[in-house]
Amino acid sequence: MFENLSDRLERSFKILKGEGKITEINVAETLKDVRRALLDADVNYKVAKTFTDTVKKKALGQNVLTAVKPGQMMVKIVHDELASLMGGEAAELHLEQKPAIILMSGLQGSGKTTFSGKLANMLKTKQHRNPLLVACDVYRPAAIDQLKVVGSQIDVPVYTEPENKNVNEIALHAIQEAKAKGYDTVIIDTAGRLAVDEQMMDEIASLKETVKPDETLFVVDSMTGQDAVNTAKEFNDRLDFDGVVLTKLDGDTRGGAALSIRTVVTKPIKFIGTGEKMEAIDVFHPDRMADRILGMGDVVSLVERAQEQFDEEEARKLQKKIQKNKFDFNDFLNQIEQIKKMGNLKELASMIPGVGKAIKDIDIDDNAFNGIEAIIRSMTPQERTHPEVLNVSRRQRIAKGSGTSIQEVNRLIKQFDQTRKMMKMVTGSQMKSMMANMAR
Ligand code: GDP
Repeated sequence: MFENLSDRLERSFKILKGEGKITEINVAETLKDVRRALLDADVNYKVAKTFTDTVKKKALGQNVLTAVKPGQMMVKIVHDELASLMGGEAAELHLEQKPAIILMSGLQGSGKTTFSGKLANMLKTKQHRNPLLVACDVYRPAAIDQLKVVGSQIDVPVYTEPENKNVNEIALHAIQEAKAKGYDTVIIDTAGRLAVDEQMMDEIASLKETVKPDETLFVVDSMTGQDAVNTAKEFNDRLDFDGVVLTKLDGDTRGGAALSIRTVVTKPIKFIGTGEKMEAIDVFHPDRMADRILGMGDVVSLVERAQEQFDEEEARKLQKKIQKNKFDFNDFLNQIEQIKKMGNLKELASMIPGVGKAIKDIDIDDNAFNGIEAIIRSMTPQERTHPEVLNVSRRQRIAKGSGTSIQEVNRLIKQFDQTRKMMKMVTGSQMKSMMANMAR
């Protein structure tokens, strides 16, 4: 899902590739693309504008870590902002009454009946609750039957009064039944219309007034894009609901609804539906959703790990040495150790956008650095700091000492020389990727 948005963002971040720091100019260019991508994804105009303004402020104030590229840093900033736009933390259901009452609202076809079943199933299997489903869609006999089918699939009873057209009465009777028979959660499925209409709104508002639910949930089809936001607003104005359920996220390629609804109605998205099966329900996690929207491998954890491992002080010292052309084999060894500390090479590489899929079946040898390390460790302190003394006989000795061949030693020294030449021109982060290349 969200392919379009993530593709756009990925492309826009490429502009920043190779830039040394986040500046007013390069950030403005990228954010223009980010904004366009959000609008294309059906995100509300105001939401997109506020979003890019905040990202800009954060990005400009940000010290770019030497360990990551500015583009990667931007991904992290955009990610965190997306997550906070969508509510930050996962929001829970507050079920306090005995029995607890959950009222479903939403348009016809949004997925209310399906979700009622999914939620009952989830509460039953994960929280060991004892739910009762209630059919309050009295206009379509098929709707009652549908809820019965759902109930039988998950083995949860369904309360119905096929002859009664008064939904308030039906709901109150169901609550009495729950109390009498020991059901601790009553889930009320209601009638929807194809579009918002007054009669439907009156009915559900009165139902809410009558049963005083713990949670009124608004169910919305995420594939309806901007319409989803408008519908959410109308329902919220009338019902003041407690949370949103976004269904059909398995089919959504735009994702604008997830981004805007939360901001426009200031109510949390609590659950998502990701398929027609009873198990296809997830608690909504803003940060995970941001990951999915960005769809950029796991750059965020890569940046976090680099932030944990990378010592800024060391990096500055190294930068100075490089500028004075004093980078030596000891520094080289340090750098390798840092890369190794960051974790498994294949895992690290797979976090880089676009790389994950490509290397899925390729063997990346985690011992790739071992040969290099052994060679450097076989050098004397003088050889490490003054590589120019490495003549043929010293090289032979090192090959023997490290259990490698003279060719491997020659290759490393040659690459080291080239690296040193190039280093004067590049930043610490690019150097790391250069060294990772050498290990191949
Ligand atoms: P209601 O009219 O609001 O009760 O909506 P339904 O529960 O009857 O759902 C309408 C259609 O959407 C049905 O065909 C469901 O199987 C389908 N549906 C519901 N939730 C999802 C979902 O999360 N993903 C997909 N792909 N289909 C869903």
